[in-house]
Amino acid sequence: MGQPDHDMRDAIVAHLRRHHPDMCRHWFDDIEPLEVSGGTIKLLIHEPVQLNYLRKRCVEPFQEAVQAVTGHLLAVRFVGPDDVEAEPAEPTRSSSFNGARGGSSSSDENPIYEQMLISPDYSFENFVVGPANRLAHAAALAVAQQPGRAYNPFFIHGGVGLGKTHLLQAICQRVLRANPATRIHYDSCDQFMNQFMDAVQAGRMNDFRHRFRNVDMLIIDDIHDLAQRERTQEEFFHTFNSLYQAGKQIVLSSDAPPDEIPDLEERLTSRFNSGLVARIDKPCYETRVAIVKSKAALRSLTLPDELVSYIAAKIDSNIRALEGAISRLQVLSMVNESSAIDHDMAKEAVRELAGGSGGVQPSQPTIQDIIEAVTGYYDVKLTDLLSKRRQKSIALPRQICMWLARKHTRFSLEEIGGYFGGRDHTTVMHAVKTIDGRRNENETLEHDVSRLEEMLLAKHDQQREQPA
Ligand code: ADP
Ligand code: MG
Repeated sequence: MGQPDHDMRDAIVAHLRRHHPDMCRHWFDDIEPLEVSGGTIKLLIHEPVQLNYLRKRCVEPFQEAVQAVTGHLLAVRFVGPDDVEAEPAEPTRSSSFNGARGGSSSSDENPIYEQMLISPDYSFENFVVGPANRLAHAAALAVAQQPGRAYNPFFIHGGVGLGKTHLLQAICQRVLRANPATRIHYDSCDQFMNQFMDAVQAGRMNDFRHRFRNVDMLIIDDIHDLAQRERTQEEFFHTFNSLYQAGKQIVLSSDAPPDEIPDLEERLTSRFNSGLVARIDKPCYETRVAIVKSKAALRSLTLPDELVSYIAAKIDSNIRALEGAISRLQVLSMVNESSAIDHDMAKEAVRELAGGSGGVQPSQPTIQDIIEAVTGYYDVKLTDLLSKRRQKSIALPRQICMWLARKHTRFSLEEIGGYFGGRDHTTVMHAVKTIDGRRNENETLEHDVSRLEEMLLAKHDQQREQPA
């Protein structure tokens, strides 16, 4: 067969857009087909973060598309500019379906690409700035431009789906672009804990310390997961100090400000507070509109303004849900192939997302709404809800919060547990079961829970009337 050209690339991307709309991004159009040889097609990508994303997420769909378009059984190999310079024209290995991971390139050398997946979507360019996130964004940018010098540590906090992970990854991308050799360790707090436990068990604490203390930048997502992990807190404290003293940048994200992370050692709280603490709030309507537009553009999806406003008005709390709606729209528009995206589709996308089949409840209360309702109703303090205290006057409202979150939001058991004092999913499951069971036997409880539900839904209906 002939050598690949841009027409072939366009056909491959078109095939992917039809069959894997969710995965496709506008920059797929910049992929350069290089050559076919030894049963392998080489595709060149200039940006290391994009290259890494393709290698980790997209090999199989590409292989499928290449085969459909060319009619040949070819392996796909994503390569970076360095691979092209480094390699002789004649490749040494022949077609192997793992071919895509073979070879070395700039993106293989930096260990960050072996850690968490950085999404090319989560860049500063794709972050919409509004009143609710302006400070966090400006600080993140300053940190990325002057690591270790602008704000150290830099601590971002805010509710689920408001852009914390996005900003953390944007920092990684910006720093790596300016200086590809920067050693960044970017991980979730869970991963940090797991690696710590593994190291303890294997008696390899020296390796662990070496790994974490010899970086230029440490970025840990969801640091609130440290709650109640005494030994990990201790280790993290030392990691923090050693990096901090060496002038290395530390960036942390959390669902609560340092003082409100339950059971966090005081010495950590004060360290976290010692740099810049920035909060992200829920985005306003205008910001949501801009985000919907930006997410649609990323996916090469054309949305009429009217539909953009509709989606932004209907989904008002969690931006992840906005993105979910767009991704559903994309799939729907593929299913109804010939037709352009219309209002009915948008309605369906939003409705599906809210989980109801009758379109009764297109958006949902937030955890914050639930907490406000429950703390007001039972006259308990938020800090008690999040604490370990178990007396009934606190445990019951806490369980009701979890029950309401489970029934009226789309957060997972893990996410809900995370919100309520870093508890695990079995605790949430237990709470849901307990409340379900007791409601049947106990009239007061049944009344209280129904009342809370009414309050939440009423409050939410009011909010939904406002923006559009
Ligand atoms: P968090 O880590 O706070 O739970 P994420 O960073 O995962 O939230 O964000 C959830 C989704 O919302 C992601 O797709 C992210 O790109 C998007 N998002 C959040 N804030 C913004 C923003 N200001 N501009 C564009 N996208 C955003
Ligand atoms: Mg996150």
